[in-house]
Amino acid sequence: MKVSVDEGKCCGAGSCVLAAPDVFDQRDEDGVVVLLDAEPGEHLHAVVREAADVCPAAAISLSEKA
Ligand code: SF4
Repeated sequence: MKVSVDEGKCCGAGSCVLAAPDVFDQRDEDGVVVLLDAEPGEHLHAVVREAADVCPAAAISLSEKA
């Protein structure tokens, strides 16, 4: 799985960080998402999908290609 984030869309809600803190963080200054792990391991896929689902700005894109 590959993860990408669109910082321009991100509204700093922080839902992704709550769902998957190993993969997402937020910038201290403005709360915009920081991608910590663009290719998270299998054990994180479920929480990453949850993060993408709950993101109110649809700023998280997932690719299932290896
Ligand atoms: S949930 Fe979406 S809008 Fe909120 S911080 Fe994460 S990427 Fe940004």
